[in-house]
Amino acid sequence: MKEYRVCIIGGGIIGTSIAFHLAKLGERRVAVFERSYISSGATGRCGGGIRQQWSARMNVRLAMRSVKLFERFEKDAGFDIEYRQGGYLLMAFTEEEAERFERNVKMQREEGLDVEILSPKMVKERYPFINTENLILATFCQTDGHANPHLANFGYAFAARRLGVDIYTHAEVKDIIVQNGSVMGIESSIGSFKCDVVVNAAGAWSKEVGKMAGIDIPTTSYRHQIFVTESLRDFFPFMAISFDGNFYIRQTKHGQMIMGQGDPNEKPGVNRNVTYEFLKSMSEKMTKIFPFLENVRILRQWAGCYNMSPDAQPIVGCSKKVNGFCYAAGFSGHGFMLAPAVGEALAELIIKGSTEHVDISFLDIDRFEKGEVEIEGNVV
Ligand SMILES: Cc1cc2nc3c(=O)[nH]c(=O)nc-3n(C[C@H](O)[C@H](O)[C@H](O)COP(=O)(O)OP(=O)(O)OC[C@H]3O[C@@H](n4cnc5c(N)ncnc54)[C@H](O)[C@@H]3O)c2cc1C
Repeated sequence: MKEYRVCIIGGGIIGTSIAFHLAKLGERRVAVFERSYISSGATGRCGGGIRQQWSARMNVRLAMRSVKLFERFEKDAGFDIEYRQGGYLLMAFTEEEAERFERNVKMQREEGLDVEILSPKMVKERYPFINTENLILATFCQTDGHANPHLANFGYAFAARRLGVDIYTHAEVKDIIVQNGSVMGIESSIGSFKCDVVVNAAGAWSKEVGKMAGIDIPTTSYRHQIFVTESLRDFFPFMAISFDGNFYIRQTKHGQMIMGQGDPNEKPGVNRNVTYEFLKSMSEKMTKIFPFLENVRILRQWAGCYNMSPDAQPIVGCSKKVNGFCYAAGFSGHGFMLAPAVGEALAELIIKGSTEHVDISFLDIDRFEKGEVEIEGNVV
C-alpha cells in the first residue's frame, strides 16, 4: 500500500495551498485527492476578491499575511495569476453600517493597515461613474485587490507537483481510517493509502469529510450566484462591495465585469443551479449604483457554495480528539483570499507543531465549545 505523511482531501485553493506550503517546508510525502478536477469547487466559481478590510481582527491578520504572499506568488509558484492591487472600496448606505466601518477602520489601522475613509463627494471625484446617491461613506485600501482564482488554484497545484507532491484528480476519498484515536490512512476510489495526517480541505463537503473521522465540523453550505458581462475597456481597477447593499463587483483582466450577491432566503445544502430571479434582481440593483452597466450584456452566470462557519471565520487546526486529523474549512466567502496565509500556517503547524507567521490558535474548532466566537460582519 502506498504511504504518505500527509493526505489532503480537496484540490481547491485551500488544499493546494497547504500542499505547496508543506512541500516548501521540505515535506514532499504529500498527496492531494480531488474527486473532480482542480478548481472545480468554490474556488473556480468565486469572485477573486482579495481584501484586508474585515471586522474581525483575526481575518485582518490572515488577509494581511495573504497579501504579502500574493505579492510574491509569481516568484514563489512561478505562475502569473492576474494579481492586481487596485484597491477595494467598501460602501456604506446606512448610518449604522457607516459607524461600523469607522470602528473597523480604527482596528484595521491598529493592525498596521493603510485604510482611507472617503465621503460620498470624494468617491464621486475619484470614480465619477458610480452613482453615490444614498451613500453615507466608503472606506478604501489600495493594497487590496483581486486575482484570477483558477490560475491561483492551478498555480499552487503545479508548484506543489514540481516540488514532489502527488496530485490525484477524479479520486474521491470515501473514508478515513482511524485506529485507537489516530489517523492511519484513507480509502479512496483509486485505492487505499497509509498516512499519519489527513487534512480536511473539502470546502462545501467539509462536514461529510469530518464525519469520516468522527469529528463534527460545524459548517453549513449555501449557494451563491454570480455573473459576468461582456468586456469593457479597462477602467475599473478596484473591487467595490457593500454588505447592507448586498453586492460586490470587479473587472477582470480581459475587461468583463463580474458581480454577485447573497440571498438571505437561500436554503442550506450544496446547490449549484442558477436562477433567473438572481439575474433580474442583481441587474436591477447594479444598474442603479453603476449606471454604465445599463446596456452591457451578461455573458454567463454560475453558482458555487459558501461553506459557512457559525462565526464566518475559518475553522483551522488539528484535532485534539483524533490524532493526525487536521481541518481547514468554513471559509464563509473569503477562502480564496485567505488561502495563502492559512496554507502556510497549517503547514507550519503540521511540520513544526507551531506557527511562525500568523498565530491561528483562535481558529481552532474548540472555540465553539468554549463559546469564544466573534462574528465577522463584513460578508456578502
Ligand atoms: C460565488 C462565490 C463568490 C466568492 N467570492 C470570493 C471572493 O471574492 N474572495 C474570496 O476570498 N472568496 C470568495 N468566495 C469563497 C471562496 O470561493 C471559497 O472560500 C474558497 O474557494 C474555498 O476553497 P476550498 O479549497 O476550501 O474549497 P473548494 O474550492 O470548494 O475545494 C474543495 C474541493 O474538495 C473536493 N472534495 C470534496 N469532498 C471530497 C472527497 N470526499 N474526496 C475528494 N475531494 C473532495 C471538491 O470536489 C472541491 O474541489 C466565493 C465563493 C462563491 C461561491
